[in-house]
Amino acid sequence: MVNRPFNAFVMAQSQFDKIADSLGLDQATKDLLRNPIREYHFSLPVRMDDGSFKVFQGYRVQHNDARGPAKGGIRFHPQETVDTVRALAMWMTWKCAVADLPLGGGKGGVICDPHNLSMTEQQNICRAYVRQVVRDIGPIRDVPAPDVMTTGQHMLWMVDEYEQIHGGRYPGAITGKPVGMGGSLGRTEATGFGVVFALREALKELGIRPQDTTASVQGFGNVAQYAVELYQQIGGTVIAVSCWDQEAQRAHTFRRKDGIDFAELRGITDRFGGISKPQAANLGYEVLPGEAWIAQDVDILLPCALENSITGESVIEIPKRVKIIAEGANGPTTPDADHVLRERGIFVIPDFLANAGGVTCSYLEQVQSNMNYFWEKDEVLGKLDVMMTSAFVAVSEMARKRKLYMRDAAYTIAIARVAQACKDRGWV
Ligand code: GLU
Repeated sequence: MVNRPFNAFVMAQSQFDKIADSLGLDQATKDLLRNPIREYHFSLPVRMDDGSFKVFQGYRVQHNDARGPAKGGIRFHPQETVDTVRALAMWMTWKCAVADLPLGGGKGGVICDPHNLSMTEQQNICRAYVRQVVRDIGPIRDVPAPDVMTTGQHMLWMVDEYEQIHGGRYPGAITGKPVGMGGSLGRTEATGFGVVFALREALKELGIRPQDTTASVQGFGNVAQYAVELYQQIGGTVIAVSCWDQEAQRAHTFRRKDGIDFAELRGITDRFGGISKPQAANLGYEVLPGEAWIAQDVDILLPCALENSITGESVIEIPKRVKIIAEGANGPTTPDADHVLRERGIFVIPDFLANAGGVTCSYLEQVQSNMNYFWEKDEVLGKLDVMMTSAFVAVSEMARKRKLYMRDAAYTIAIARVAQACKDRGWV
């Protein structure tokens, strides 16, 4: 068999095709939903700190906006491709639909590595990006947000550029903004917390107490950090965290069998935001290869890094004891690995359900921005919990009633909702 390189869009389309067939969608609906409805490719000329100009490649893909304005993050990544952005945009459509938000799906990306860019250069990229898509984004068209390697600061520069051009204040144009500048309390925590709200419900369903469980985590970014914080608060023990080492250009897994101290690990991040290997070793953490996170003898795996991490090869490393996988990342499990997880009866909380907390809170941020009235953190997180829990319950009820794998149940709900919206609008 030819070993083709991983292509997230091919994966997203094959996931869609399978459910579209089982739902009996007509050909036009399938053709509409298996591709983005619109996409923009652009060059971004950016002034660098040494006075020279460098041209970056940027994308914004709107997969579908039948249920509301497109919604989704903008990633900065050196390995970004348009197909990855297309896949992520499609997954955003299903994510907003499964969470029952009145939003569609989009995603953006810039091929760049923020590790090698100053803050001024990053600001210049953000502003150049908005100048290219200023007519195609906004509160009623397409609402960007942070994603891999972008933060509230990047969003603030972007909304500022948008507002400079439009000559007004449009806080609903972009979400994930800093608190006090149109952002919502709880937005930073929302994706990681949402993963754990879903995980808590799964444990309840399986009759397992959180305090009797252990977990291994891939990633140390925004999603992983808050997922671990809340999982530990509900009583769970994380024994391993895998994290990218920018200096070594590879990942390491940091393990402590009686439980890692997350605050301690957060306190020893290096200048790239990753865990400092020498300092972790000094504190008595075992330093294992990056891939080791998946092979830990735990009850729960939390892949919270990037796509393509549980693959046909790595899936066989998952120990028998693992009962639940909650996908904090987008697209971490390839279809061949997914087949194995299903056969083994592992309870998978699929990515676009598990990590829907981020966009759900973005929706709450938009609502607050539009009212120009901001809620207390408890109110935001309370609403987030209710919305995540009801999305989870709808999917798990469908899975139980129709004897479906959780991923298929989530896809069935999401695709049916979006297909219905396209039909109701008379598009197909
Ligand atoms: N980038 C996040 C995601 O993949 C959040 C998107 C948003 O808030 O619009 O779900």
